[in-house]
Amino acid sequence: MGTKIKAKFVGNCKLCGESWAVGDDIFYQKMPKAICSDKECFEQNQGGKISTYSQATFKGNNDVIITKIPEVNVSDSVKQIADMWMEFFVTAHHMTKSIYPVQDVNTHVFGQIRSRILYQLCSITALQKQ
Ligand SMILES: [Zn+2]
Repeated sequence: MGTKIKAKFVGNCKLCGESWAVGDDIFYQKMPKAICSDKECFEQNQGGKISTYSQATFKGNNDVIITKIPEVNVSDSVKQIADMWMEFFVTAHHMTKSIYPVQDVNTHVFGQIRSRILYQLCSITALQKQ
């Protein structure tokens, strides 16, 4: 199943010649590979299929969220925790990939599973330290 995503790289379609810039909406499918900014080309020339579920998910993700970052100094101990968090994140990412090999990495579902595993890894670490 393909999804509508924001392009992370500049590119162009080898079939119809359409080009896109970073941030443009493009249609992307991993298996079988299909990519184009033109929906018709994506579906008809390349056999891509748009998952309606992902479309809805991505639409939701585009809602504007205002975040106010508090102005505080971050201590070294917190930075160390952040480094550890990143190690857990990478581990959770690879675990999700190996446990759900068919799940597309660029989907909301993958991200949800990954953050659940990340949370579990942190919980297990906390238990071990007791
Ligand atoms: Zn095309």
